[in-house]
Amino acid sequence: MKLTHSYVHGASDLPLIGQTIGDNLSETVSRLPDHEALVDHPSDRRWTYSELEEWSRKVARGLLARGVTTGDRVGIWSPNCAEWVVLQYATAYIGAILVNINPAYRVHELEYALRQSGVRTLVSATQHKTSDYRGMVDQVRGALPGLEDVIYIGDPTWPELESSASRVDSGEIEAIGKTLAFDDPINIQYTSGTTGFPKGATLSHHNILNNGYFIGEMLHYSEADRVCLPVPFYHCFGMVLGNLAATTHGATIVIPAPLFDPDATLETVEKERCTSLYGVPTMFIAEFGSPRFESFDLTSLRTGIMAGAPCPVEVMKRVISEMHMEQVAIAYGMTETSPVSTQTRPDDDLDLRTATVGTVLPHVEIKVVDSDNRVVPIGTPGELCTRGYSVMLGYWEEPEKTAEVIDSARWMHTGDLAVMREDGYLNIVGRIKDMVIRGGENIYPREIEEFLFTHPAIEDVAVVGVPDERYGEEVVAWIRLAPGADPLDADTLRTFCLGKIAHNKIPRYVKLVDAFPMTVTGKIRKVEMREISIGEFGLQVAGGIETA
Ligand code: AMP
Repeated sequence: MKLTHSYVHGASDLPLIGQTIGDNLSETVSRLPDHEALVDHPSDRRWTYSELEEWSRKVARGLLARGVTTGDRVGIWSPNCAEWVVLQYATAYIGAILVNINPAYRVHELEYALRQSGVRTLVSATQHKTSDYRGMVDQVRGALPGLEDVIYIGDPTWPELESSASRVDSGEIEAIGKTLAFDDPINIQYTSGTTGFPKGATLSHHNILNNGYFIGEMLHYSEADRVCLPVPFYHCFGMVLGNLAATTHGATIVIPAPLFDPDATLETVEKERCTSLYGVPTMFIAEFGSPRFESFDLTSLRTGIMAGAPCPVEVMKRVISEMHMEQVAIAYGMTETSPVSTQTRPDDDLDLRTATVGTVLPHVEIKVVDSDNRVVPIGTPGELCTRGYSVMLGYWEEPEKTAEVIDSARWMHTGDLAVMREDGYLNIVGRIKDMVIRGGENIYPREIEEFLFTHPAIEDVAVVGVPDERYGEEVVAWIRLAPGADPLDADTLRTFCLGKIAHNKIPRYVKLVDAFPMTVTGKIRKVEMREISIGEFGLQVAGGIETA
């Protein structure tokens, strides 16, 4: 049926799961006890499902022995490792709320997150590369009386946590499990807001277990799948699209490296015969950019997910042809919605799978609205809203901020600009605040970026608006050139664009860069790009807009 209005509901015969995360893991364990559940490639350690369950329960009992109770907040501050995954399930077993802390945080952000969520027990890495986690914890600890206990992965405090499990009867986990409800909060994730302090999106068992399950369903996961996860666990891309999609289906979680490393990722895919590979677009771009790319055998790959930021069509095509990921999916979502709202399906045609972010997941509703909150006709850009089981409980202890994004009819307003097609598939055209308005006309950076990607000299590109006296705003393109390509300037780019895209979309300024300002989750910081461009092109007073 062709839609006329931008609303679609994910009708499905497959019911939502009415379980807690712990009960669901136990179910997979009883189905596949001896099947491989988790592989930590850097340390060459591996666990079957029954071993993963046993280890998680041991850590859960250790936490109980150290005074953690249901509803307490347990922080995790570490790059990816097996202990991260185990703590996710250990906290779920006892209903402690896992607080994911971004490993890129420094003392100011760390202290804020620990204080705001009231973390009682923190599990932290000791150090990794230039990050001295222990030193930073020491700096903030004195100011946080509520932080009673710190356990470090990789020093004696971790084995102590495990050995303290002996002080708690193993029946205790079952007894607590019976008291837990699937709507209880189980996880707080700080969202990487570009302004102000991060907000703690609070998610329930029901939110993330079901989201993980349906993401895995869309990829046709089974115990035959081995999922390579170079994406961070502290973000839902790792812990929901990765861990929960895998464990709900009996698939294997494979950790290629503590932090993203293109060669380690490709090597792990080859050695572990992974069937599925995840990444934000820049990770796939970096993998293709590896001088060793051709040397890896990636033929075991079948599927995977690209998400988190606009996924360029050209990169998707290479993922399918050169990485053998014929059934790769694009997913779109945000932390506040567990995260995924839309996803492409393995049997979608190439156009749908490369040029859209898919359609709504089962049991979720999405709509596109105008500034008066009215559903817009098909094909018209507007703000995307999501409703259903996946919408977070709220921002932790910030009811006003929650009310700013979740309206009285329970729709989450995403701040993303989307266009719905008549078949219900979506295109994300930008963030509302990143839209460029030139001479009164709305310009969606995404459209220009997609076009510029077709230029052979351009390896990566991002477009922002800058103030302009005459037009209000003008278009700037930041370009990373392909290796060995001749430099481009605004004039040569204009010649390339003329006659192919509307003249008002042709970048007025071009800046060649080696890298973009990025968040650790692979999102380009467009606000920062805009500020740098304003300084570089001397546009401080243009349009009367004052900038810092
Ligand atoms: P986060 O809460 O960190 O997961 O960030 C969510 C934001 O990432 C969304 O609101 C979008 O702006 C962006 N995003 C996620 N997935 C996609 C996608 N497939 N295409 C375009 N933007 C995306």
